[in-house]
Amino acid sequence: MDQTKIDALRAQPVPAFSHLIEGKHVPASDGGTMDILSPIDGQVLTTTAKGTAADMEAAIASARAAFEDRRWAGQPPAARKKVLMKWADLIEANALELAVLGVRDNGTEIGMALKAEPGSAAGTIRYYAEALDKIYGEIAPTPSNFLGMIHKEPVGVVGAIIPWNFPMMIGAWKLGPALAIGNSVVLKPSETASLSLMKMCDLALEAGLPPGVLNAVTGEGKVVGEAMGLSMDIDVLVFTGSGGTGRRLMEYAARSNMKRVYLELGGKSPHIIFADAPNLDEAAKVAAGGIFRNSGQVCVAGSRLLVEASIHDDFVAAVAKAAEAMRVGDPLKVDTAIGAVNSEVQLEQNLGFVETAQSEGGQVVTGGGRILQDTGGYYMAPTIVTGVTPDATLTQKEVFGPVLGVTSFSTDDEAVQIANATVYGLAGGVWTSNLSRAHRMVRDVRTGVMHVNTYGGADGTVPLGGVGQSGNGSDKSLHAIQKYINLKTAWIKL
Ligand code: NAD
Repeated sequence: MDQTKIDALRAQPVPAFSHLIEGKHVPASDGGTMDILSPIDGQVLTTTAKGTAADMEAAIASARAAFEDRRWAGQPPAARKKVLMKWADLIEANALELAVLGVRDNGTEIGMALKAEPGSAAGTIRYYAEALDKIYGEIAPTPSNFLGMIHKEPVGVVGAIIPWNFPMMIGAWKLGPALAIGNSVVLKPSETASLSLMKMCDLALEAGLPPGVLNAVTGEGKVVGEAMGLSMDIDVLVFTGSGGTGRRLMEYAARSNMKRVYLELGGKSPHIIFADAPNLDEAAKVAAGGIFRNSGQVCVAGSRLLVEASIHDDFVAAVAKAAEAMRVGDPLKVDTAIGAVNSEVQLEQNLGFVETAQSEGGQVVTGGGRILQDTGGYYMAPTIVTGVTPDATLTQKEVFGPVLGVTSFSTDDEAVQIANATVYGLAGGVWTSNLSRAHRMVRDVRTGVMHVNTYGGADGTVPLGGVGQSGNGSDKSLHAIQKYINLKTAWIKL
C-alpha cells in the first residue's frame, strides 16, 4: 500500500451522492439530503439523497420493468458473463479509490478494507459470472410416458439491504448471484456507509449492465428500507444486519406479499482454546485479530474467548499483549491495525457494554475506554474482560465492538455447553492438536462456520450462513444461488 497515494485520495473532496434509478443519478423526490459524517474525524464528509417511500417505489418499478422486458435475463449467458467480468475488472482497477472512499465513510483500517472490500467484491462477482453458464435445470426420473423437467428461473426483483461494516463485500455477496441468474435488483445501502457501494453500482453501468437492472436508493432504514420490505413487487428480500431489523423484515413480508426473506444476522461467536493447541502464541495473536480488527465490527468476530482453565491466565496475558500491540488510530494510515468505530452512537453502546460487564463481576484486563485523537472521531481501545459467566450480558448480547469476553472451562462437554448457550449460531473456532476433539467440536458447536486452528478468512468457495437467531440461507459459494432462483416443473405427457 502506498501512503502517498492514499493521502492524495483522502485530500479529494467527496461530491454529493444521489439515488441510482433507471441508470440515472436522481435526487430524492422531495429534495431531501442527509449529512454523512466521517468516523475518522466526526466531520461532514458529503451528503446523500435522503430517500422517500416514493423514491423506493420508483426504483422497484424500474427494476420490475427491466425484468419484464428481459433486457438482462433475456441476454445470452455469455453476454451476461462478459458484463459481470468487466464489472469485476473495473472494481479492481479502481480498488484503492473505492477502498479509501469506503474508509472515509465507515472507518475500517485501510489494510483490511482494501482486501475485504474491492478485492473481495471483485472476486465474488467474477465467481458468479464464471458460474452462470454452468447452472442447468434437471430431468426427473419419471415413468417413461412422462417427462418431468425442472427449470431454474430467476425470481424477478430482488431487494437487498446492506449493513455498514463491509458494504462492498456484502453488497457483492447479494449482487453477484442475483444478477448472474438474470434478476433485477434494488439495493438499499446503510445510511452510515453507502458511498463506496454506490460508486461500485456506477461501475456496473460502465461495464454494460442495462439501466434499470440495478437500482440503488439511499436513506433511512425506517423509511426506504421499510418501503422495500412492504413492497408488493419485491419477490425476494436479502438482508445482512441486526436481528432487530431482521425481525421487522419478516413482519413486513407477512404484512405484504409474503416475499421470501433471507437473513444474515449477528453473532456471539465462541473461540475455544484447549491447552493442547498446536501453537498457543499464534492462537493468542489470532484470537486478538479475530475480535479487534475493524474495531470488532465483523459479524463472525470471535467475541467470546473460551479458555481451558489450566492455561487461562497465561493465555489471557498473551492475548492482552497482542491487543496492546495493535495500533488504534487513523484508519487511512497503512500501519494502523484498528481503525475507527463507525459512529458515536456505536461507540457509546460499546462503552455501555463494558460498564455492564464490570457491574456483573467481569474484570477489565486491558482497554475499556475511548481513545481520544487530536483529529476527533470515534476510537476505542481493544478491550478484554475476564470472569464473564455464561449468563452474563457480555455472553448473551452482541456488542459489535472491540470487546472480548473471556470464560474458562474444564472439560470438552463444558466448552460445548458454554459455546452453545446463546441464541446465536454464526461462527466459532477451536484450537487443539487432537484430531478427534477438533471433529467433535465442529460437529457439536452449533454454528454456520467452525474454524480449526485458525480464525476467519474463509473464502468465497464456502457458504456463510447462520443458524438460530444468526439467520437463514447462505451467502457465498454456489449454495447462495438457490436464494435467487425459482424451481418450475414442466410435467409433459409423451
Ligand atoms: P442494522 O440492522 O441497523 O442495519 C442494516 C441495514 O438495515 C441498513 O441498511 C439499515 O438502513 C437497514 N434498516 C434499518 N432499519 C430498517 C427497517 N425498519 N426496515 C428496513 N431496513 C432497515 O445493522 P447494522 O448496524 O448496519 O449492521 C450491524 C449488524 O449486522 C450486526 O448485528 C452484525 O453482526 C450484522 N452483520 C451480519 C453479517 C452476516 O453475514 N451474518 C455480516 C455483517 C454484519
